[in-house]
Amino acid sequence: MKFQYLGTAAAEGIPALWCDCERCRKSREAGGRALRTRSQALIDGVLLIDFPADTLKHIYDNRIDLLNIRDCLVTHTHMDHLYPEDISMLQPGFSHAPDDYCLTFYGSDKVGERIAGPLSRAGKHGAFREVKVFEPLSVGKYEVTAYPAIHDPGAGPVFYGISDGEKRVLYAHDTHYFHDDVWANWAATKPRFDLVSLDCTNACLPLNYVGHMGLAENAQVRRRMLEEGYADENTVFVCNHFSHNATHVVYDDFVPIAAREGFLVSWDGMTLTV
Ligand SMILES: [Zn+2]
Ligand SMILES: [Zn+2]
Ligand SMILES: [Zn+2]
Repeated sequence: MKFQYLGTAAAEGIPALWCDCERCRKSREAGGRALRTRSQALIDGVLLIDFPADTLKHIYDNRIDLLNIRDCLVTHTHMDHLYPEDISMLQPGFSHAPDDYCLTFYGSDKVGERIAGPLSRAGKHGAFREVKVFEPLSVGKYEVTAYPAIHDPGAGPVFYGISDGEKRVLYAHDTHYFHDDVWANWAATKPRFDLVSLDCTNACLPLNYVGHMGLAENAQVRRRMLEEGYADENTVFVCNHFSHNATHVVYDDFVPIAAREGFLVSWDGMTLTV
């Protein structure tokens, strides 16, 4: 399975719009991997995760043809993960898609409500399927399971486990340390993940709110997954989804810190084969 990070930042991006903070100044100067756009990922070139406004930049930078993609999993309605206005571009005249082209979006009921208008304008080129947590769903050749995220409830947040029958990925953004129900589900279903991507919005800044994680919480999740058998020494763990308000968050600063806890650090364009 080929897993590609297209965008790796929280809502503001790094550097953020209009920002003169130390992390943004340093990232602006460093360029390259220090520059982070809003969250999106792609599996095997065919299964998209999230649809932020930066999708347009992502398809340019990575030479992606969206017409090869028929399925898009949406984690929640926040703007760094979902930009419904661009779904309107599927309507005839704004794009010239082949007659049989249809992009299906998957997400919670809140996602469905948020994209209903643009999807109606897209007509036959767009569709929506609601996901229910803990109920595996076939998406193309993949089995996808949505899990309840601890994040703004109004945004209908879920995170996803995705299996191609051989390899399994966990893409857990945006969420706090996982809900007890997730651990209970895993105790019953015993999944084993080959790649685990965890929300690291706060990086080294101690977490003093509910809804995201930092490196300390990522390390707790990793330890428990290893202890309970949902990951092993071959599992690749990645910190992803960063805010400029986090400390030590600039790419080159954070890589050695995350490595001490057993994590790689994502960057826009990073591709992993598991
Ligand atoms: Zn986010
Ligand atoms: Zn900043
Ligand atoms: Zn969010």
